[in-house]
Amino acid sequence: MTTIADVIIIGAGIAGASLAWRLRGTRRVVLLEAEDSPSHHSTGRSAAMMTPYAGAPLIRAASVASRAFLLAPSDGFSDASLTTPRGVLRLAGEAELAALDAAHDDGIAEGRPFKRMTRAELMAMGLPITDRVVRGLLDTEPRDIDVDALHRGFLKGSGAELWLKAPAVSISRKGPDWVVETPKGVVTAPVLVNAAGAFADRVAGLAGVTPRGLTPCKRTIAHFDLPSHRTGKWPLIADPTFSFYAKPEATGLVVSPSDASPVDPGEVWPDDIDIAVAVDRMQGWLDIAVRRPSAAWSGLRSFFVDEDPVAGFDPEVPGFFWYAGQGGYGIQSSPALSRVAAAILCDAPIPADLSDAGLTRDALSPARLSQSSRKDPI
Ligand SMILES: Cc1cc2nc3c(=O)[nH]c(=O)nc-3n(C[C@H](O)[C@H](O)[C@H](O)COP(=O)(O)OP(=O)(O)OC[C@H]3O[C@@H](n4cnc5c(N)ncnc54)[C@H](O)[C@@H]3O)c2cc1C
Repeated sequence: MTTIADVIIIGAGIAGASLAWRLRGTRRVVLLEAEDSPSHHSTGRSAAMMTPYAGAPLIRAASVASRAFLLAPSDGFSDASLTTPRGVLRLAGEAELAALDAAHDDGIAEGRPFKRMTRAELMAMGLPITDRVVRGLLDTEPRDIDVDALHRGFLKGSGAELWLKAPAVSISRKGPDWVVETPKGVVTAPVLVNAAGAFADRVAGLAGVTPRGLTPCKRTIAHFDLPSHRTGKWPLIADPTFSFYAKPEATGLVVSPSDASPVDPGEVWPDDIDIAVAVDRMQGWLDIAVRRPSAAWSGLRSFFVDEDPVAGFDPEVPGFFWYAGQGGYGIQSSPALSRVAAAILCDAPIPADLSDAGLTRDALSPARLSQSSRKDPI
């Protein structure tokens, strides 16, 4: 039996789920997810941070525009609060002081809540800083995101039909409609959304659409239990260049070497060497002894050549809608990016607050990734 829909979305991670939520009540949506859980890939492996002023211009604009929703979601969206205070602290030694001061002045000029921290103030926070640390720069705005609550809120409120263990295995055209075959059945619709995360170029290929040069990059995180440190209230800690970060949790720290190795889309696992690098870099700044990690995982952050996302119809193939390339910021940008994407998909005006921030049809169109600017598909 064939299911008839208005929109088929391939991928039920945060991108596909948030777009389905934006289309609620206006379109019959079928969400196809290859895995048995919609958070199996990048969405379930993030550092769960809201750092709105990071990243390339469009993702940054979308992240800033998403703050209001993350701080106060619509009524009934989630029983739990979606964010909690965290902050980001960059540590500096003598060699990094000039760069830290410049970052402070830039932040203050932008009206951001930056505070210089003396060594004594850092020690008073209970941070086991090494002798190398001279000063810190604390940004109090970044928050932890409850990714699970956000993702579930989008999925639950979307009213979409979610098919799990339903990889799109063949995609064809029948007149104006797309026909997608999965092991769970066949679904047809005039609009096909490619929200397949790291797999977006693969899905394009399956549909006979030219790939746009998406590069999945692997990032690793390891969790260490640290019962002797009360880490829970610490900010996320990094060096000035973010060559590592350590994010406190109630039971310890998650530590990442900020790796970004290009890989093929697929399952990824942590390498011991990446965990060792993360620990070595952290121990240059924090006097913390660790043993074996209690958990470790890797996930994919996927980038187009300009490191900004796309949301728009393919200029060459009617009805094929790209929604990919959120890189390392797909969680924190999802409320606003999905609002723009839904407007583009429905051929509605883009809300003025978002177009004024630069989130326009042209800026987000996959057409901006011209043939010459594409990387070879991996
Ligand atoms: C280590 C790490 C740390 C991060 N930290 C942060 C952070 O602190 N803050 C932040 O905002 N972002 C962060 N990110 C980025 C964020 O996780 C991603 O941008 C976001 O999850 C991408 O969502 P997505 O829905 O596009 O991809 P995914 O979550 O990967 O979803 C895509 C889905 O498509 C499915 N799919 C693929 N092919 C098919 C097919 N043929 N048929 C059906 N389904 C298919 C996949 O199974 C997958 O579930 C981090 C990422 C990593 C890896």
